[in-house]
Amino acid sequence: MPRVRPALMAVLASLPALCGTAHAQAARPVLLRHATVIDGTGQPAQADTDILIENGHIAATGHRLKPPAHARTLDLSGTSVLPGLISDHSHVGQVSGTHNGAENYTRANILSELAQYEHYGVTTVVALGLNRSPLFDDLRREQHAGLNPGADLFGVDQGIGAPDGVPPENMFHIGPDQVFRPTTPAETRAAVDRMVDEGTDLIKLWVDDFRNGVPGARPLPKMRPAIYRAAIAQAHARGKRIAAHIHDLADARALVAAGVDILAHGVRDRPIDPALLNAMRTQGTGYIATLSLDEAGYIFAEHPEWLDDPFLSFGLSPALRQQFADPAWRARTLAAPLSAAAHRALAMNMQNLMAVYRAGIPTGFGTDSGATPVRIPGFAEHREVRLSIMAGLTPLQAITLATGDAARLMHLTDRGTIAPGQWADLLVVQGNPTVEPAALDRIRQVWHRGQPVAGPLPGPLSPHK
Ligand SMILES: [Zn+2]
Ligand SMILES: [Zn+2]
Repeated sequence: MPRVRPALMAVLASLPALCGTAHAQAARPVLLRHATVIDGTGQPAQADTDILIENGHIAATGHRLKPPAHARTLDLSGTSVLPGLISDHSHVGQVSGTHNGAENYTRANILSELAQYEHYGVTTVVALGLNRSPLFDDLRREQHAGLNPGADLFGVDQGIGAPDGVPPENMFHIGPDQVFRPTTPAETRAAVDRMVDEGTDLIKLWVDDFRNGVPGARPLPKMRPAIYRAAIAQAHARGKRIAAHIHDLADARALVAAGVDILAHGVRDRPIDPALLNAMRTQGTGYIATLSLDEAGYIFAEHPEWLDDPFLSFGLSPALRQQFADPAWRARTLAAPLSAAAHRALAMNMQNLMAVYRAGIPTGFGTDSGATPVRIPGFAEHREVRLSIMAGLTPLQAITLATGDAARLMHLTDRGTIAPGQWADLLVVQGNPTVEPAALDRIRQVWHRGQPVAGPLPGPLSPHK
């Protein structure tokens, strides 16, 4: 379990009737003063800027705003304020401790994960499939209405995988009600209809043989073109966009040619060619690299000293911390052929992110956090920003990717930037992360819908610690 769970459970247990009203009620206006504002649009950081928060929203931004009567004012000199981060590709309810399993798809576990995201400053999460009805649909509605603490939640209900293929049942231990595995176009259309009828935000496909770049790996049966074509056609007929899990260039090409709307992972086996870049630009195909996915497979084995970093520790369950500290686990992980393949995949993913970004293709931000125990909610998103900078984006571009660009890819117009009318979802960090990327991890405050997020925050600088 993520570490925030006991505190969250205590709140839920003691205040069951108050949760809804406490979040919904109007609060005093708040004026944040003298901050460096990184507004999520891509424009450079603005020094000494004020932000006025009223009724959960940003009411005004500017230099030396006059505080309204009864406003609370906070001097944020020395800090930067940016929009809350948005993950366009994560998962909820998949893991507990060091294990994946259908038994983890519970309300308590998902709310605990959403609370952890929020504490890391990730205020919106898109869970891209493997969800269970009706719990997922209920929780999305509740998070949209602000009835529980934690990140806002969007996503794909179950998604469409391949029979005996990806997502692999034996690796993720997912229940049969967490993914459709249709064998005919008619079954595929019925699965799409079911998800759309239940209110899914998007549709998801898995088109991959799951060799993951490991030489000699046995391929799993891949989804047939007749199935993904039927899914894409039905999703579009029902007015929904469709995102696809891919690993290899050949599958990316085939899916873009078939009209898929979003590639939910970067291409990781070969450089993306100019013809595919052209097709994606022409069709407006979206792209989410998920750089940190492959790195998470080996990086904790390579860096046991990271366990001393309170920014990581905050997101670790006792079981996961114990695993990362275990020399036998580390040796096994470092020797695994998948770890060598993941290094190569990350390097290719970084190269392709830059090609896609420079081609002007709509690029979002995601991590696949929550899909396996090592993809740590919240920590993964901070790591993704850092890896995007290592790939070649400027720090300002990487922060914009994780905020304004991520919102735009998901068609979320009420968040992702700091501007009047937007939700007051804000991450306050010490220093200026457009100058010094490490500053993004020095979290001082998180605001979600105009309310400060309560409790200890990740990292050594939290004033609550
Ligand atoms: Zn995937
Ligand atoms: Zn995923």
